[in-house]
Amino acid sequence: MLDPAVRALLVCPVEKAPLRDEPEALVCTVCGRRYPIVDDIPVMLPDDPSQDTPTTEK
Ligand SMILES: [Zn+2]
Repeated sequence: MLDPAVRALLVCPVEKAPLRDEPEALVCTVCGRRYPIVDDIPVMLPDDPSQDTPTTEK
């Protein structure tokens, strides 16, 4: 179980969206990325860093 104080601070690192609790992971409510909880520590790394990279082209 995560420390509730830690859990309260966690948001998706991609767009700072709230996360939904699942038994073994936190799931972003916006982009749907899953952040696995390993040894009670959430691994807050986007699954694919090359994906959804903001571009300034337009
Ligand atoms: Zn997200």
